Amino acid sequence: MKFWFKIPLWQRVVGALILGVITGLFWGPDAESIKWIGDLFIRAIKMLVVPLIFFSLVAGVAAIGDLRKLGAVGGRALLIFIVTGQISVWLGLGLGTFFAPGASLDAELPEGAEVPEAVPVSATDMILSMVPESPVQVMADVQVLPLIVFALLIGIGILMAKEDGEPAAKIFDSGAIIMQKVTMIVMELTPFGVFALMAWVAGTFGFEALLPLAKVVALNYAGCLIIIFGLYSAMVHFLAKVPAHDFFRGIIDAMAVSYSTASSNATLPVTLRCTQRNLGVSPSVSSFVVSLGATINMNGTAMYLGLATLFGAQIFGVDLTIGQYFLISILATLGAVGAAGIPGAGLIMMSLVFTAVGVPLETIAFVAGIDRIMDMMRTTTNVSGDAAVATTVAAMTDELDREELVSADDI
Ligand code: ASP
Repeated sequence: MKFWFKIPLWQRVVGALILGVITGLFWGPDAESIKWIGDLFIRAIKMLVVPLIFFSLVAGVAAIGDLRKLGAVGGRALLIFIVTGQISVWLGLGLGTFFAPGASLDAELPEGAEVPEAVPVSATDMILSMVPESPVQVMADVQVLPLIVFALLIGIGILMAKEDGEPAAKIFDSGAIIMQKVTMIVMELTPFGVFALMAWVAGTFGFEALLPLAKVVALNYAGCLIIIFGLYSAMVHFLAKVPAHDFFRGIIDAMAVSYSTASSNATLPVTLRCTQRNLGVSPSVSSFVVSLGATINMNGTAMYLGLATLFGAQIFGVDLTIGQYFLISILATLGAVGAAGIPGAGLIMMSLVFTAVGVPLETIAFVAGIDRIMDMMRTTTNVSGDAAVATTVAAMTDELDREELVSADDI
């Protein structure tokens, strides 16, 4: 038992993944008999959706502290979050359309599985569907979008209530922390879930299914690397006037920690230290932007949600209109905003995008087994993005100590 927990989770997951594939390939279609273990894992993840989003989002808004603080720093940061988020989703959609990773895989829906209905795409219907008629019903039905709207409003209400809102802010804060702990417990199921899901996928579909999955992993890595070394390099170079290699040298610790933990939140202390000590971002700008960014700025996740939606549409033969592409771009950005900075959060958010455009939720069963490897890379993208935005906003608001930056050479 002790030995088991001594191995870092990500190594157990990678081990389970490899063993699962080997087992499935040898066992064949009968491997379906252990698929229930994977289903159990997915059920446990789904269980977390509503409370996790609700608590983290309200706590995130309340943490801003003062509505006016969303001024110079907040406004700029939010603008960059949104623009880079959109670029990232469209990159995911582009990669998914161009390389069509799911096209060669033709999956029949499991018997009795229901295909979620596509929500109407007309603008008025969309706006109407965003406002919850009953918050309780929205939670019971796991409708994530109106839930996000409700959570944002509660957060703003807490800020407006000032001292009277403080006790509630504390409760939501503690709720968010508790939910992260519960998620950690659920994440301990990952190796077993991954083993069972991979054995089932490999046993049922053989190499035929593994190729498209490998393609999704490769596309996920390619997309993330383009965002990190293309988008962020350009951003720090042109907007912050910081040489890209100095920037990356300064955040290498944060990149390593984020890759191995797959959690923006767990990496937060390291990201703060890197931006302040190695890049010379002032403590106030860095704590504000990096802490907010760890929750809402997730370009790796946004890119992946776009890619995964197309993958699901391809394997289940769902045709998407250009209007639905735009819907995906909005929902994937919102999903990335709503995702907590913890392992597997992106996986939870898939149901938001899938349901809206009629992609079967069963797609999650296909990608859950390989999610961890992709999660590590998208978390590194998310964390690098927080540091890039903090550096850029600091440069714009004269909060960047360039002398500190030069000493990055001696790290
Ligand atoms: N694990 C990611 C993060 O912490 C979120 C995700 O699952 O995409 O940033």
